[in-house]
Amino acid sequence: MNIILLGPPGAGKGTQAKRVAGEMSAAHVASGDLFRKHLSEGTELGLLAKGYMNKGELVPDDVTIRMVLERCAEPDASKGVVLDGFPRTVVQANALDAALGAEGAHIDLALLIECDYDEIRRRLLGRAEDEGRADDSPDVIEARLETYETQTAPLVDFYEGQGKLRRVNGDQSIEGVTDDLLAAVGDAQPLG
Ligand code: ADP
Repeated sequence: MNIILLGPPGAGKGTQAKRVAGEMSAAHVASGDLFRKHLSEGTELGLLAKGYMNKGELVPDDVTIRMVLERCAEPDASKGVVLDGFPRTVVQANALDAALGAEGAHIDLALLIECDYDEIRRRLLGRAEDEGRADDSPDVIEARLETYETQTAPLVDFYEGQGKLRRVNGDQSIEGVTDDLLAAVGDAQPLG
């Protein structure tokens, strides 16, 4: 199965994607992690991405799409993927559908982790103190929430329209959220 985790920054997509991918023996593909890897390796793509990331803006679609689709072509992804942080725009979602369609594959489910925004702000500020991520400063957090609202939230309607959206309450324990996500995956699994 191929699954997308949707939700605002700080909703716990990374934590949950790892757990869900582990349970499903699928590959965890996180666009933010791929960008941070490029950044730490000092690649050209990393340098380009840095400017956008540090402002809470999205990296341009063309380079993001190429990077994620290349990762999805690696052998471990053939058993299925849990996508985290991608797609983040309708253009990316359409590119993903086209790429999967060309392989006779498709997205099975888009799981939306819903969270209270004040709780998200608290979590991201806490993460700033613990991990020192450059994009967890208060003004960049606000920019990321704004970017999510304007560019990524439209994907909720996009996947609802495809009948693939499931909503999960993100304001509960890590284990509770994972259980709800896996229940949604189980419900969607083809019988036999
Ligand atoms: P968050 O914790 O905000 O969900 P991520 O770790 O997923 O953040 O991503 C960090 C940054 O990387 C984003 O703010 C954005 O600049 C860039 N990025 C990640 N995924 C994408 C994407 N699909 N399209 C464009 N930019 C992206």
